[in-house]
Amino acid sequence: MQSTRHSILLIDDEIENLKALERTLMTVATVYTADSGKAGLEIVEKNSISLVICDQRMPEMTGIEFFKTLQKTHPHILRMILTGYTDVEDLIEAINEGGLYRYITKPWNNHELKLIVQRALERFDLEIRNRELVQELKQINEGLEKTVQDRTQKLSELAVTDELTQVGNPRYFWAQLQAEVERSDRYGHPLSLLLVDIDYFKNYNDEHGHAIGDKALKTIAQVLKKNIRSTDFIARYGGEEFAIILTETPPKKAQEMAERLRQAVVHKKFSYKIKNKKKKGLTISIGAAGYSKEKNPKKLVLRADKALYQAKRKGRNCTVCV
Ligand code: GH3
Ligand code: MG
Ligand code: MG
Repeated sequence: MQSTRHSILLIDDEIENLKALERTLMTVATVYTADSGKAGLEIVEKNSISLVICDQRMPEMTGIEFFKTLQKTHPHILRMILTGYTDVEDLIEAINEGGLYRYITKPWNNHELKLIVQRALERFDLEIRNRELVQELKQINEGLEKTVQDRTQKLSELAVTDELTQVGNPRYFWAQLQAEVERSDRYGHPLSLLLVDIDYFKNYNDEHGHAIGDKALKTIAQVLKKNIRSTDFIARYGGEEFAIILTETPPKKAQEMAERLRQAVVHKKFSYKIKNKKKKGLTISIGAAGYSKEKNPKKLVLRADKALYQAKRKGRNCTVCV
């Protein structure tokens, strides 16, 4: 709750009224006075006012006219009008237009007036606190929405990511391949597929252990990922096999890219050391195939697989394109 002392503004063209009001209310709040609407507006601009009590009948600007202006510039300031009994009926509509908190009839009862003002100021505090709470809730809500969005994004990524190598999983591979085959059918763009298999990986595992084998798998996945374009897709297709979808790529270009990937792995220094032996790296074999409008992604995979088999037969650490 706000605990600072409130400031209120009293406006009346009759100085005696102003003085009497000020005497009554100075114990409740800090009091500013003005003898016209115009002077009142200047005070409002320069001070932090919680409540304005304004006389209705004033020569240049009536109380309601004053409040209509105030409502536009300072809608949060509470507004009370001071008026004679006889004027109340005529004022009802205007009172609504001025967005008034309430009216006070002349002559007023000092004790009552004090109570009314105190209650108004409490309400002012509550409204401030309310607005602060709404603001806080909005921020909390925005934070929550962001968290939910992030988690949803993370979950959908997890659903298509291979945990060990952090490239796509088979589900991702097949979905992307289907989509790219359809795109190629529709627009006639060239499309190629690489199947990558690590050479003699069983021996490697046997020699260094499964944990080092896992690290090598991760490293090779990173090397491959780093050396393809952002428009290509890489997935772990099987145990030590990766599939790479090359968009907008004819087979000849695919083989060049395959060769580049093969060499990148040859030149990769693996970070472990093998006791008493020269550091030994790993190599990969690659089968490349171009999509030839067979309208069937599986056929493309089969042809790439045949090419890979030929690469193995040729002695490994090489690429074959069909
Ligand atoms: P080739 O050159 O003919 O491909 O020989 P290879 O030994 O690589 O092929 P093979 O299919 O005989 O063996 C594959 C090996 O890959 C055996 C398996 O233990 C290993 N492997 C498959 N998945 C993982 C894995 O997640 N982690 C590790 N460390 N090894 C794996
Ligand atoms: Mg292998
Ligand atoms: Mg294999």
